Amino acid sequence: MDKKVIIFDFDGTIADTFPVFVEFARSEGFDFSPEETEELRNFSMRDVIAKLDISMWKVLFLASKFHGYFQKASPRVPLFEGIVDVIRDLRESGHTLAIVTSNSRSNVENLLNRDGIYDCFETIHSERSLFGKARPLRNIMRQLRALPNDAWYVGDEVRDVEAARGAGMRSLAVSWGFNSESALRASHPDSLAFEPSELSSLLN
Ligand SMILES: [Mg+2]
Repeated sequence: MDKKVIIFDFDGTIADTFPVFVEFARSEGFDFSPEETEELRNFSMRDVIAKLDISMWKVLFLASKFHGYFQKASPRVPLFEGIVDVIRDLRESGHTLAIVTSNSRSNVENLLNRDGIYDCFETIHSERSLFGKARPLRNIMRQLRALPNDAWYVGDEVRDVEAARGAGMRSLAVSWGFNSESALRASHPDSLAFEPSELSSLLN
């Protein structure tokens, strides 16, 4: 079996942060009905921001404010059911695991420590730029000496699939996070998973 470098997104892939995100949006005056929230899942984050008609400055301001909100909420943010076992299993199989996230490093570290999987990851990179994950992915591939065919980015959004492609690595989209299955399929990921337990067989 080939040893792979498997880089994970955090929000919506490892941790179920979307409910906190919706709660935060409501507290900032964006009131979505459950139907509207479901509808948003069909759009990339770029399109969601375009639909909300807010400036990029406002987006950056809200993103920064969200990190503080999240920090307070994080003790009650669960990791997705089954993801802890999958991550342990992939690590025990000898793969190198890493995280590239737009959440803050301390938020991610706290949750991984709480659930006992912090040590499974070689490196955690926090990328605050909203659309810029391709560059950190490329840097980590270089740092970990990953070959493009053996390097995967696992994420729940269309922009994760695009970032993986931009970094010249393979993409595995997961349907349990933000973007809907149809939106993910339309972005042509190399692979698609519907529940965490599938990751072991897809990546091993
Ligand atoms: Mg995500």
